[in-house]
Amino acid sequence: MADQEPLTRIIEEIVAPGAAEVDRTGGFPRKAVDALADEGLLALTVPAAHGGTGQGPRAAADVVRRISTACGSTAMVVTMHYSAVAALAVADRADVLREIATGRHLSTLAFSEAGSRSHFWAPLGTATAEGDEVRLDAHKSWVTSAGQADSYVWSSRPLSAPGPMSLWLVRPGGPGLTVGAEFDGLGLRGNDSRPVTADGLRVPATALLGPDGAGLDLALGAVLPWFLLLNAAASVGLMEAVTRETTAHLSRTRLRHLDRSLAQQPEARATLARMRIETDRTAALVDTALTALEQGREDAQLLVLEVKAAADGSAAEVADLAMTACGGAAFRKELGIERRFRDSRAARVMAPTTTALLDFVGRALCGLPLLDGADA
Ligand SMILES: Cc1cc2nc3c(=O)[nH]c(=O)nc-3n(C[C@H](O)[C@H](O)[C@H](O)COP(=O)(O)OP(=O)(O)OC[C@H]3O[C@@H](n4cnc5c(N)ncnc54)[C@H](O)[C@@H]3O)c2cc1C
Repeated sequence: MADQEPLTRIIEEIVAPGAAEVDRTGGFPRKAVDALADEGLLALTVPAAHGGTGQGPRAAADVVRRISTACGSTAMVVTMHYSAVAALAVADRADVLREIATGRHLSTLAFSEAGSRSHFWAPLGTATAEGDEVRLDAHKSWVTSAGQADSYVWSSRPLSAPGPMSLWLVRPGGPGLTVGAEFDGLGLRGNDSRPVTADGLRVPATALLGPDGAGLDLALGAVLPWFLLLNAAASVGLMEAVTRETTAHLSRTRLRHLDRSLAQQPEARATLARMRIETDRTAALVDTALTALEQGREDAQLLVLEVKAAADGSAAEVADLAMTACGGAAFRKELGIERRFRDSRAARVMAPTTTALLDFVGRALCGLPLLDGADA
C-alpha cells in the first residue's frame, strides 16, 4: 500500500477542499496532481528498476479509491496515468519511466477516435514511415488530461505489420498536434477530456511501444486490467462518499414538527442500507479480482472484466439512491451529492463501455475470443 499519511494530507488539504470548484469551473486539478507528484504517487507503479515504487494494481486501486471519495475528476486523471504507465512498463520505456519516477511527468491514454468511437480496439488513425520518422494522423475523440499531460500512449493502425493496432509514445507540444476545445461535460468536469488531432505529426521511429502491429495485445493484456480495476475502484470511492454523506445528512436533519431526524424514518434507513450493501458488494468484487490477479488464478481475467461493468451500474444506482434519500437538499449543490450523481454517469460510457464489457464477459464464459475479425 502507498504511505497513508501523505495521501491523507493531500486529500484533506487539497483534493477535497478544491473538488466543488474543479466541478464548477471545469478547471484541471493541477495543484492536486502536483502534490501527488511531489509525494511520489505518480511514480507508485513505475518499476523499481526505473526509480519508481514498483507497486501493483492493489496499491494503485487504493490510491484511486481514496482520491475518488473526494474528487472524481482527480481520480480519473490518476487512473489514466497509471493505465498509461502499465503500457510503458511492459514496453520497457526506461527513458519516460525514469521521468515519471522523478515526479514531473503525467501520462494518459489516447485511444478513442471520432471514427471508431468507443471501439478503441479498431483505430482508424494511421502511422506512415517517413525516413527516420513516423507520421501520425488521427482524430482522437477524448483524451483525459489532454492539455496537461506530458505524454500520450497513442493508438494507430500499424505501420506495415498485420494486426489492428500499434501503440506510440507521443509527446504533445510540437507541430501537427492540436488539442481541441475545453471539456464541458456532465460530470468529471475537471478531467480535461478533450479531442486531440494529429495532422502530419512527426515522431521518432523509437516512439513505437512494443512491436509494430502488437498494440492490441499490449492494450488488452497490459493496459485493460489496470484501467478496469482502477475505474471500478473510483466507483467504489464515489459510493463510499455518497453513502457517508447521506448518512450524515439523514442523521443531522430534523423534521421539527415530528421532533425526529430523517434517520428516524424506516424508509430512509432502508435506502441507506441498500446503498451500503451495493457499495460493500462492489468493493468485495474488486478485492476478489485483485486477489485472483495477484495469485495468477484461472478466473482472474473473467473477474477483471466483471469489475467495471458491475461498478458502473452500482455507482449510478447508489448515487441515484442518495439523491432520493436526501431529497431537495441533494438537488442543490450544497451537499455535493448532485456532483457525485453526475460523476457517477461517466463510467458506463467510458470504453470498454458497460455494454461492451457485458459482451466480453459473455464471450469469456462461452470460451469465445473477446474480439473477432468482424469487430476490428
Ligand atoms: C470523462 C471521460 C473521459 C474519457 N477519457 C478518455 C481517455 O483518456 N482516453 C480515451 O481513449 N478515451 C477516453 N474517453 C472516451 C471513452 O472511452 C469512450 O470512447 C467514449 O465515451 C465513447 O463515446 P461515444 O459517443 O463515441 O460512444 P459510442 O461508441 O457512440 O457508443 C454509444 C453507445 O452505444 C453502445 N455501443 C457501441 N457499439 C455497440 C455495439 N456494437 N453493440 C451494442 N452497443 C454498442 C455503447 O456501449 C454506448 O453505450 C473518455 C470518456 C469520458 C466520458
